[in-house]
Amino acid sequence: MSARVQIIDVAPRDGLQNEKTLLSTADKVELIRRLLAAGITKVETTSFVHPRLVPAMADAEAVMASLEPLPGVSYIGLALNERGVERAIAAGCDEVNAVVVAAEGFGHHNQGMTPEESVAVWTRIAARAHEAGVVPSLVISVAFGCPFDGEVPTRRVAALAAAAAAAHPARLTLADTIGVAGPTDVQERIRAVRDAVGDGVELGVHFHNTRNTGLANAYAALEEGVRVFDASLGGVGGCPFAPDATGNIPTEDLVYMLHRMGVETGIDLELLADAARWLETRLGHPIPGLYAKAGPFPR
Ligand code: ZN
Repeated sequence: MSARVQIIDVAPRDGLQNEKTLLSTADKVELIRRLLAAGITKVETTSFVHPRLVPAMADAEAVMASLEPLPGVSYIGLALNERGVERAIAAGCDEVNAVVVAAEGFGHHNQGMTPEESVAVWTRIAARAHEAGVVPSLVISVAFGCPFDGEVPTRRVAALAAAAAAAHPARLTLADTIGVAGPTDVQERIRAVRDAVGDGVELGVHFHNTRNTGLANAYAALEEGVRVFDASLGGVGGCPFAPDATGNIPTEDLVYMLHRMGVETGIDLELLADAARWLETRLGHPIPGLYAKAGPFPR
């Protein structure tokens, strides 16, 4: 397969937000620098949420202030509301990532909004980002299943995607927030969402590896033509609503699979594995990712 994919590393936000160990601001910045050194060009650096709700992201402004703008590099900040997008713009984010929630239960617990309300908030966030010259992107969370409501109908996800696409996201990412999908779910949802939004919107995917289906799902998405993948260095992270959940698919394991398939990523896998081993020492527990343990082949 000759293709090139873009990998967005979400470890500094989605990963660290759900880790028990709080990393210092200096360590977060070091993590981001190591990702960039390995060839990652898009990093979800932090989240602009209220520090009382997510103490691990209380240093969002300090992290951004420590990063110098680099050509070809996007620092992505997560924002769940209008206060968040203002903070992300002021902090110098290149891209602001907002969330539309696909199910009532998760919306209520995670951000206090119905799916329809989250589309309205996203629409205002996107308008503000466009106005400020910041790239708005969108993730549809629990797009494959909800920890409270169970199954989420594909037509529901497609309808929300169509409504949200009217605000012109640079990218629309389908997230399996709690790691329940299998490859045929991925195939079905990508086709339905692409039919709903047309070819003008780039689709991305965000898989948690809770039930070990993450890489199979990534392969299914690749086969469906998706070229943008979220992943987390070392596979670090979890989900506050799924006690034994692991994080996102490990970036280095995904890169190994893609390189083995002849798919280009622009990433130096050994530098990435070094970064994963470094992160393991900072967190003080074994990381889920396997490549950093197994090493290259052939040696
Ligand atoms: Zn996630």
